[in-house]
Amino acid sequence: MIAKWENLTRDEIAALDKDKAIVLLPTGATEQHGAHLPVGTDSIILSTLIDKFVAEATFEEGTLLFAPPLLVGKSNEHMGFAGTLTFGTQTYYAMLHDLVKAIAASGFKKLVLLNSHGGNTDMLNMISRDLRIDFGMNVFVFDWWFTSFWNKGLEGLKESGTYGVFHACELETSLMLHARPETVHMELAVDEDPVACLKDNDYVTVFGPYNAGWKTSDVTQSGVIGAPSYATAEKGAKLFDYAVKELKNIISAFARTNY
Ligand SMILES: [Zn+2]
Repeated sequence: MIAKWENLTRDEIAALDKDKAIVLLPTGATEQHGAHLPVGTDSIILSTLIDKFVAEATFEEGTLLFAPPLLVGKSNEHMGFAGTLTFGTQTYYAMLHDLVKAIAASGFKKLVLLNSHGGNTDMLNMISRDLRIDFGMNVFVFDWWFTSFWNKGLEGLKESGTYGVFHACELETSLMLHARPETVHMELAVDEDPVACLKDNDYVTVFGPYNAGWKTSDVTQSGVIGAPSYATAEKGAKLFDYAVKELKNIISAFARTNY
């Protein structure tokens, strides 16, 4: 069964077989996405994927329960552009810890932090270990920015160059053109590569391998990092279809992984 937490009753949640249940806690963001995309882009993409997953996927091995999504995350790198909302590091940690404490108190033993924003990733990887230690749960981090997830989905679709997919980019704009086209202003879209010192060298780029603690205005003037001019709704539709299937494979792997 696949369900949303908010749609079940107290007694239905109590009756679920907790040995075969996985709670997925969606972690989104509300932050500037250039001039052409709405600030809710990360959260809208994640909610759209979840809605498609609930409608189209099946899960026979037990219950997948999507917790209420967090529409604000850790986005302080985007401060300085209007519209960005963020929790501070300590607040975000404390809030996630409190929420998972409550999820564990309902008897759940397995959790997936289901993330759509690259700025949340470090926190989620760090807290996953604390949650394991504090609540005894099996905790997994699903992240699509620092894994091969989207690269796999973009095979045969991506037309932009090395830095074309990063933020408010070919990928995110395509997904938004499919999910919520009325909020996308393509006439305002600009392509922008990262600043020269953070690209095309062997050591420090926005993709690593070594990290610089940048804020967005260090990297881009427009707030875009990537090439939204290559985005199309058709690509977005294919990417969502891919994402539903691949997410199912990943969650099934989490279901088989008991440690
Ligand atoms: Zn985004």
